[in-house]
Amino acid sequence: MKIPKKNRRYCPKCKKHTEHTTSIVKSGRRRGSMKEGQRRFKSKIAGYGGYPRPKPEKGAKYGAKSSKKIDLRYKCPDCGKSQTPKKGKRAKKVEMQ
Ligand SMILES: [Zn+2]
Repeated sequence: MKIPKKNRRYCPKCKKHTEHTTSIVKSGRRRGSMKEGQRRFKSKIAGYGGYPRPKPEKGAKYGAKSSKKIDLRYKCPDCGKSQTPKKGKRAKKVEMQ
């Protein structure tokens, strides 16, 4: 999918249409090593028993979709605020024009 670098969109802050610049947010957040869930997980791993693996449900499909939803951001040059589209679009490959 090809995405234009500049897009004329409405900015709710400026209350007018401006030339927004598009950018794709890279997926994959860093996990906090001291967050509650991570601490609980560490205590689960500790000792004998090893890694707690959840059993997959019967008939469950893994990785059924080959495309991912792209995370787009539109940035207004006047105020610097960025907007996100309401619905993410699915695409295998994303290209900036
Ligand atoms: Zn603006």
